[in-house]
Amino acid sequence: MFGIKDLLLNILIIIIGILIYYSIKIEQRFQKLIIGLISVTATVACMIFPFTIVPGNIYDLRSIPILLGFLYGGYEVGLADLLAALLYRYGLGGYGFYTALYSAIALVGLTVFFVPLYQTLNRKRRILTAMAIAFSTSLLIALIGYYRIHELVPDSKENILVFFAGFCFLHVLAMWVSVHLIENMRENKAMEIEMQKAEKLHVLGELAASIAHEIRNPMTVVRGFVQLLCSREVSEEDKRYMKLIIDELDRAEEIINDYLSLTKPQIEKAETFDVVEHVRHIANVLSSCAKPRNVEIEMKGDSSCSLTTNQVRFSQVLVNLMKNGIEAMTKGGTLQVFVCRKDEHVIIEIIDTGVGMTRDEINRLGTPFYSTKEKGTGLGLMASYRIVQLMNGKIQVDSEKGKGTCFSIILPQSSRKEI
Ligand code: ADP
Ligand code: MG
Repeated sequence: MFGIKDLLLNILIIIIGILIYYSIKIEQRFQKLIIGLISVTATVACMIFPFTIVPGNIYDLRSIPILLGFLYGGYEVGLADLLAALLYRYGLGGYGFYTALYSAIALVGLTVFFVPLYQTLNRKRRILTAMAIAFSTSLLIALIGYYRIHELVPDSKENILVFFAGFCFLHVLAMWVSVHLIENMRENKAMEIEMQKAEKLHVLGELAASIAHEIRNPMTVVRGFVQLLCSREVSEEDKRYMKLIIDELDRAEEIINDYLSLTKPQIEKAETFDVVEHVRHIANVLSSCAKPRNVEIEMKGDSSCSLTTNQVRFSQVLVNLMKNGIEAMTKGGTLQVFVCRKDEHVIIEIIDTGVGMTRDEINRLGTPFYSTKEKGTGLGLMASYRIVQLMNGKIQVDSEKGKGTCFSIILPQSSRKEI
């Protein structure tokens, strides 16, 4: 009475689909397409090999790949699966098409609200939610199919009970197996990416440390001679060129510093200094690059704010974040910098009214070489995050696309751990 072989085949089809997806390397832009292709194939394959719960009726687990399509691929994928299922069912002909159609409507109605929410949940909640959705959709689909059962096996209450319990249980079980597998595979993939990233950073660090020193020395010599030439009687045009040379040399120096921050923590002395005074000094230095962009730097702060850490590294973080703020304000404006003390922490807020970022963009901050600028390196934030982390502090970002961004550096007043 129970088509156990075909039931297992249905589950196997779904599992094979998941395994195929995670064993091939897919470019980001093709991900949805591949999820769509795999889930459509799994949906139709489940329908080709249906199983029996009570005599005279055939069922399949098609709603599992469809639900997985919705939850992991989004609306487009889920709807493509549904359409494929309906077209195939229509091709088979008969009364069953309407049952399939009503079931499809019920499934969409129950799932549609969970799609945007699903990926924001944690792993445990995702598994529970997927199982709850599988249970409720299968119950609804079973109710819709009940009329057919009733017509075909009118007197058998036992059959109906077996049908309802079996149908729902199988769906929840299949969903549990699938979601567990997907979540495990996802975690493995994320770990693999993390390891690759760490390896990349390691290589970068080694490379940076070995060449930075060699390059810095000749650069310092060149800068010195250009400055010397600048102080002589030269035409205005030549002066302009020399200033450009110095600016570019400074930029190169900053890039080298950022690279160097990625190397292993170096033993550098921590010292106690006044944060407000220091931030004011950095703001003054940066005003030369803010002015041409019509950006004013406004600074407010608690005068009794001291910090014990490595001052050079701290300056590097400030310069990176403030420069980013200035560069984000393409139409000019005021960059606000606030310094305050809270409990045992010093908080420096850098607020711009620039282009702002979406949640996705915020999530990418600090990843190696992520930059949206033509001349950007994508190193500044990565180095800053690392330095602040070494100082036992953290950087928080609050941003709204088109409105502006607030970067908050939160540091313990005394990060005696030497970096
Ligand atoms: P770079 O400045 O060289 O591009 P960063 O690591 O400093 O590299 O910044 C990486 C990216 O983060 C920038 O290209 C930009 O897209 C984004 N970003 C950083 N700060 C801001 C900000 N204040 N406003 C908007 N986008 C920002
Ligand atoms: Mg930058």
